[in-house]
Amino acid sequence: MIDALPWDPEMESPATIAILGAGPMGIEAALYARFLGYHVSIFETRRVAHRMLDWNNRKIDSPAGQITTSLGLGALEAQDEGYRPPDEDHFFTGKQYAEEYLLPLAKTDLLFDDIHFLSPVIDISRWRSSDQPKPDRLDEFQWQSRCNDEFRILVQGRHRGTWVSRADCIIDCRGTRSARVGLGPCGGLAIGELQSRDDFLEHLPMDRKFDPKTYDGKQIVLVGSTPEACRQVRECLEYDGHAKLIWIVPPSSAQYHNPPGSDELAVTRSELSDQTSMRFLMIESLGVESISKSEQGLWQIRLLKDDESTVELQADCVVSKTEQFEEPLGWTLLTGNQYAFGYVQSILQQEFQQADESEQEQAKRAIQVITAEPGYFRLRADKGLAEGFERLRTIFAILGGRSDLDLYAIMQKQRSHQSPE
Ligand SMILES: Cc1cc2nc3c(=O)[nH]c(=O)nc-3n(C[C@H](O)[C@H](O)[C@H](O)COP(=O)(O)OP(=O)(O)OC[C@H]3O[C@@H](n4cnc5c(N)ncnc54)[C@H](O)[C@@H]3O)c2cc1C
Repeated sequence: MIDALPWDPEMESPATIAILGAGPMGIEAALYARFLGYHVSIFETRRVAHRMLDWNNRKIDSPAGQITTSLGLGALEAQDEGYRPPDEDHFFTGKQYAEEYLLPLAKTDLLFDDIHFLSPVIDISRWRSSDQPKPDRLDEFQWQSRCNDEFRILVQGRHRGTWVSRADCIIDCRGTRSARVGLGPCGGLAIGELQSRDDFLEHLPMDRKFDPKTYDGKQIVLVGSTPEACRQVRECLEYDGHAKLIWIVPPSSAQYHNPPGSDELAVTRSELSDQTSMRFLMIESLGVESISKSEQGLWQIRLLKDDESTVELQADCVVSKTEQFEEPLGWTLLTGNQYAFGYVQSILQQEFQQADESEQEQAKRAIQVITAEPGYFRLRADKGLAEGFERLRTIFAILGGRSDLDLYAIMQKQRSHQSPE
């Protein structure tokens, strides 16, 4: 279906697909692959759906009908005759979604033996193709032989030690947040930050692992202007166990500072501006200049102001809710090669422009999932889980060489024939 790529992306089952991450996207990708007869290996740094579990009792903003699929429900019904799917309009909390849908799916016979939890993938390379394309000879590069070569996946298992796995194809479902930018101006690192990160306070009042002993009665400094930071500040204020909460925000006058989610920041700031009190304070700053922890366990923080003067602060706890970015994985892969990326993107863009109206959506999604590394797909839910499932369908349409391949529709039909009505 993608004809113009310099390699043939089709992959007949039974090939082996490695899936990175066992969040909602990774579980769904593994399920889709298994239904099509591929072998799968799923690698997860922590535990299945841990992010959804951490999301805890907060409601998911999409109803069950949009975050479950006919494939998932079909698998649960096949596993357990007594299973009753949720009402399509029901709103799960993160914890319910994990416990009632994702974890049972991970335990089905289809997936159970293929999941390696506590097993972060720490590197990926090819076995034999070490060539990198020359920027001015991209069309002469051996893309197809690279595609025919297997991936070598280095896994650091908590129980098994470091070991190597193989796969013909990778679907990277590591989520959108694997590392945070720094506390310093414009996301740079503050002096002392790298040594301090492990001691930052991670769990706040609505989080599953929140421990009031680490929070109540303390002076807390929270740095970050992301939507997540805004939400956490509101939740902290609602809980109100702290002695003082100090939120470090960018200067409102800074024209150049326009981070993603800045609308949310503007709204939250204006709503909270009249709440300044003995227990809550917003401080405008370009970022943290330096940070260190005294032997008594007290944080010393130097903030940089807009006029480049500095302000000293002390705190019992520091919370970092700065922006998150995807950490690169596999230095020799072409996923991070900007020339290869530009070349492949321009081919896909051309294909997109030539696609007729009925194929436009799928061509657009192909651009989202194909990377410059042949056989390496990236699957993100940055536009919500429902869109993530559509992108997943596109990946398997590409692998199967059939743009009309839609297991969701097939399973939906099958389930409606089986339903008692
Ligand atoms: C409080 C909160 C509210 C949210 N509300 C919504 C909402 O209402 N609607 C919505 O659509 N989204 C919401 N989200 C975002 C939501 O978390 C994502 O949509 C969802 O988790 C994405 O699923 P995923 O599978 O892509 O990523 P994740 O759930 O993040 O899963 C990725 C997995 O990959 C694993 N991983 C990372 N690196 C490696 C590696 N090297 N090796 C092996 N495994 C690795 C991680 O441990 C993780 O388990 C919210 C998030 C939060 C925190």
